[in-house]
Amino acid sequence: MSCPYCGNNDTKVIDSRESREGIRRRRECLRCGLRFTTMELVQARALLVVKRDGRREEFNRDKLWASLTKACAKRPLPVGTLEKIVSEVEAGLAETGKAEVPAKLIGQLVMDRLKELDRVAYIRFASVYRDFRDIETFKEEIDALLAPKPAAPAVPSNQLPLIAEEETVVSPPRRRRGRKPLTPPSRPA
Ligand SMILES: [Zn+2]
Repeated sequence: MSCPYCGNNDTKVIDSRESREGIRRRRECLRCGLRFTTMELVQARALLVVKRDGRREEFNRDKLWASLTKACAKRPLPVGTLEKIVSEVEAGLAETGKAEVPAKLIGQLVMDRLKELDRVAYIRFASVYRDFRDIETFKEEIDALLAPKPAAPAVPSNQLPLIAEEETVVSPPRRRRGRKPLTPPSRPA
């Protein structure tokens, strides 16, 4: 432990107490005599990621962050979107309660989120994670994206839903004024 003031490595601990964040130690530099505080943190158990080839590596938040940044570069996403995705993915991984997770799962968790947010970012990310081998696979993915979603259960337009949930309330489309209906011009017989 080197002194932040003079860089000397000889310090003595003059006080040590446990707190919720870890163990705080008050230290005194044996050369300049100034005091400083250090924190000792318990490292959470590392999560291992099993790669496609079977090799394992420690889960790396920065790596996930970097691949997301790349996929979302110059996309019109709200501030804080990437942070949110990373935290949600981490939470999702923790939820499995496993010490090892397949890399595929991480990719899937990210793609589920990107798909809803931004199709371009989604395709960019998927092309790396899924390792599209040829243009055909790539096309299949795009086609799947463009395919219409299964229709939601229809509510008759003259009937309001019984329970108005905030998320499901959709304001009716505004009528465009000043437009004539599209009817073919009548021709003289
Ligand atoms: Zn010092």
